[in-house]
Amino acid sequence: MQKRMPYMSADDFSVHDDDCEKQESDWMPLSDLPDEVTSIDDLDCECWADYESLSEI
Ligand SMILES: [Zn+2]
Repeated sequence: MQKRMPYMSADDFSVHDDDCEKQESDWMPLSDLPDEVTSIDDLDCECWADYESLSEI
């Protein structure tokens, strides 16, 4: 699977997949996931539902 670029929402600092349907123009691309994210369960949005582990991101 191709690596995806995660994005962070400027509103609530939530992290999303690059094809999240909620994506807005002010979201910031992240080169790496934030340190606070230690498991796939830390990513709340359903755009991550297709992922099984952080190593896929
Ligand atoms: Zn999302």
